Amino acid sequence: MTVTLINATRRMKVINLPHESYCAALGTCACVPRKGARPLCLALTLAAGASASGLDDAVLRVPDVARDVRAGELRVRREVPPPKPSSPSPKAPRRSGRKKAR
Ligand SMILES: [Zn+2]
Repeated sequence: MTVTLINATRRMKVINLPHESYCAALGTCACVPRKGARPLCLALTLAAGASASGLDDAVLRVPDVARDVRAGELRVRREVPPPKPSSPSPKAPRRSGRKKAR
């Protein structure tokens, strides 16, 4: 399941997604490997009032995120996965060049 995180504050937020909590919840390592250094954990930057969609709900297991959600500084919207197409569409689905939200 994916979620949308919304920054409900008037300040920019930088949310670290530490390996110990985020990757553990994700079940895979999402860190950015670096040569000769520890992998860099992912971080989300949310401008005031901005939202980030398509996040794995593993972000909710990150203590900082959970704390901000409880404090009302972050809002969470769970994204319902799109229903599987029951009938083949007449037109072939166009591949839209959707960027990866990472
Ligand atoms: Zn990791």
